[in-house]
Amino acid sequence: MAKLKCAWFDFTSCEGCQVELTNFGEPFFELLNFIEPVEFREVMSEKTTEQIDISFIEGSFTREEDRKRLEDIRARSNVVVAYGACAVTGGINALKNHMDDYKDCVYGKDKDMPHLDSQLAKPISAAIKVDYEVAGCPMNRDEFVQIVSQIVHGTARVYTPSYPVCVECKLRETLCRYDDGDHCLGMVARAGCGAPCPADGIPCEACRGMVKDANQDSLVETLESKGKLSRQRAESKSRMFTANFRGDAK
Ligand code: SF4
Ligand code: SF4
Ligand code: SF4
Repeated sequence: MAKLKCAWFDFTSCEGCQVELTNFGEPFFELLNFIEPVEFREVMSEKTTEQIDISFIEGSFTREEDRKRLEDIRARSNVVVAYGACAVTGGINALKNHMDDYKDCVYGKDKDMPHLDSQLAKPISAAIKVDYEVAGCPMNRDEFVQIVSQIVHGTARVYTPSYPVCVECKLRETLCRYDDGDHCLGMVARAGCGAPCPADGIPCEACRGMVKDANQDSLVETLESKGKLSRQRAESKSRMFTANFRGDAK
């Protein structure tokens, strides 16, 4: 069986999902029996202009000038996989969609340099058709391996739980962060990760996005009343990874 030619492309991101992939170890080495990387900036210098079997896209769509590059990738790819929160939802980059002064905060006196110009942070699917998505910040290893394995075998079916992270947290019998004097976004966060963060004693930040019809007003109230956060902090927590889910998203 011929190996599938795979290419990795990055847009607005920290490239942490590429790094995460290189940390997969054995599961990634197993995949290399079936796929052949032909472009992957973090690990090789070669580039390709040829047809690609699977393109993996990391990062958000934040600049109109990136649309042409995305369309070219789409035209050359049999399958496009958006991976990581930045690519799937806009991720943490979408925080700027709610701020007017982010350029001052981040770039200071250099804020007007032309290469720093960008618009709203959007998912890759806002620019091109995406066939599969791997959520999480960084992306979830098991989901990535499962999707790629299934594409390789021609039977890709992606199951995304519709329930919140609290369900997986309860199944693990983890002490609720609220019962430990902390806060958490697990009740509105999209499950599928297995709730590793509360199990490690830290709050879920909803890095995989929100469940459908999440009650965001109640979330802020709960973070404030039960999580003991200030109103301002509760508001900012509620959109850390989910800014594009908020009703007031631009
Ligand atoms: S999803 Fe997270 S780890 Fe991945 S590129 Fe975006 S910010 Fe970095
Ligand atoms: S710790 Fe978070 S995810 Fe777990 S039950 Fe409590 S609110 Fe839900
Ligand atoms: S528990 Fe929450 S923050 Fe942690 S990986 Fe899952 S969705 Fe992301």
